[in-house]
Amino acid sequence: MLFGGIQKLTLIDYPGKVAATIFTVGCNFLCPYCHNPELVDPKKIKEQERLSEEEILKFLATRQGLLEAVCITGGEPTIFSDLPEFIKKIKDMGFLVKLDSNGSNPQMLEKLLADKLVDFIAMDIKAPLEKYKKVAGERVSLENIQRSTELVRTAPDYEFRTTILPALHSKKDVLSIGRWLQGSKKYYLQQFKPTKTLDSAFLEEKAFDWPSVAELRRLLEIFFDKVEVRE
Ligand code: SF4
Repeated sequence: MLFGGIQKLTLIDYPGKVAATIFTVGCNFLCPYCHNPELVDPKKIKEQERLSEEEILKFLATRQGLLEAVCITGGEPTIFSDLPEFIKKIKDMGFLVKLDSNGSNPQMLEKLLADKLVDFIAMDIKAPLEKYKKVAGERVSLENIQRSTELVRTAPDYEFRTTILPALHSKKDVLSIGRWLQGSKKYYLQQFKPTKTLDSAFLEEKAFDWPSVAELRRLLEIFFDKVEVRE
């Protein structure tokens, strides 16, 4: 696996747990609003700091008994075939594991779930299926996305979340996501922040205003057990 960094303490990445977050390098999607371009853009990846697995595990050993969980995010962690072995080492140290994924690799999710290697999966939902390729790139397999949503719902804990912005999502799109995933436990609307983006043109894009986000949240409440907004 390729690692680009570690956040040594987070109180928000794993809901309700004190955790560290590990960032993997590389992604198979091309979301123009991506706020981690240094982990996705091939040119920027070259300049990205790298950490070895050994360095990460050494750090985590110093946090046993202090942290409850480890979050693995990217980029896209499931592009690495040795992800299960890496997670196993973390779980053997006694940590809960949360995986953030774009849902592109249901085979990997299936394996991680079967081997009980993940306690929480957070899956990004980029758009309703009919607009997925427009938002995340032509390479997206809609079949894989659909399969991943089904698998994620079998995880011990999970959430779906969408970063929304007017340039890519209409109110109709957001409601279409709600109908698609209805009956799921938790769904988060995430506000777009034009601070750094994969496509620099998106630095000029605006986020939804807060009353619109509040309205979307209210409309989505019929589809999910819990709907929340993340800044
Ligand atoms: S937003 Fe996530 S899935 Fe999209 S390009 Fe960035 S890291 Fe990849």
